[in-house]
Amino acid sequence: MGYKYIFGPVFSGRIGRSLGLDLLGKRICSMDCVYCEVGATEFLVSERRPYVSAAAILEELASWKQEGHLLPDVITLGGLGEPVLNSDLPEIIGGVKKLFPSLPVAVLTNATPMTDPEVRRELLEADIVLPSMDSLVASEFRAVNRPCKGIDPEDVAKALIEFRKEFKGKIFLEVLLSRGYNDSAENLSKMKAFCSELSPDRIDVVTLSRPGTLEVALPVDPGTLDLWKKALDAAPCTDRDCGSDEGAKGRNGSDTSVHVQDGDSAAFDRIQASLMRRPQTAQQLSKALEISFDGVMQVIEKLENSGKLTVRQAGDEIYYKFKPDG
Ligand code: SF4
Repeated sequence: MGYKYIFGPVFSGRIGRSLGLDLLGKRICSMDCVYCEVGATEFLVSERRPYVSAAAILEELASWKQEGHLLPDVITLGGLGEPVLNSDLPEIIGGVKKLFPSLPVAVLTNATPMTDPEVRRELLEADIVLPSMDSLVASEFRAVNRPCKGIDPEDVAKALIEFRKEFKGKIFLEVLLSRGYNDSAENLSKMKAFCSELSPDRIDVVTLSRPGTLEVALPVDPGTLDLWKKALDAAPCTDRDCGSDEGAKGRNGSDTSVHVQDGDSAAFDRIQASLMRRPQTAQQLSKALEISFDGVMQVIEKLENSGKLTVRQAGDEIYYKFKPDG
């Protein structure tokens, strides 16, 4: 069946095969990052509300479970913006754990809601928290992340450090560099001090490899990326820079991909839903969704012919992105 709030699994170099839950339904975020791969933020807000109710999400997840799919490595709370803005977060985490007690729950966040102690308490129930922090220089933070008024990067950094003191799970921090926006020496020095205090379980320093919101948002050169990775003691390899060259293999290494038959609407829906959340290459889709490469290309061709996709070359890779009004 087609789902509104479940997408993927998508493959992530950081957490493996991840089944995504969309907690927002729309592009709702407390930031409007220049590099955002889901497109411009439609609702720039910092208030928390049940943008999608826990009941609606958990009902879909229960149906997905009944369909007997191959289990992912992790269930990730995300969506088209900042998932922690969903005030039903505690019910959603609790409900997911009840349905899949053996799977870890991961939460993607831009960390801005974590300045609220109540939010930090709620996130203690997750197993992996994946915050992002791009700049601790206030002017750079405003330029690259374009946050809601009143959000200060130093407050967000302090909130993360507070959270680290109590959280028993893993923290995977991501820093995304955009040329001329946040790759300054001043930021590197501040981020170095912050990372050493936070001591996350993993740090990923990445640059744009997928199409972002603004054409002017460009990747940094490999030398700069390398310098930052070394300075922050980051992981050598991430899904953004080394996960896209593998074929469609299952977790045990055997080829478990399925082929798409003409009119296979389930595969069509899964590929469409996945591209709505994240631009991807055909190989990434094939690997994560366990659909043959040829099958993925058939669906991509259909979507392209109906004008629903934009195509962008990034290095040697071709990324397919769903048009916001596609
Ligand atoms: S990249 Fe993340 S934090 Fe930035 S606008 Fe997109 S969804 Fe929001």
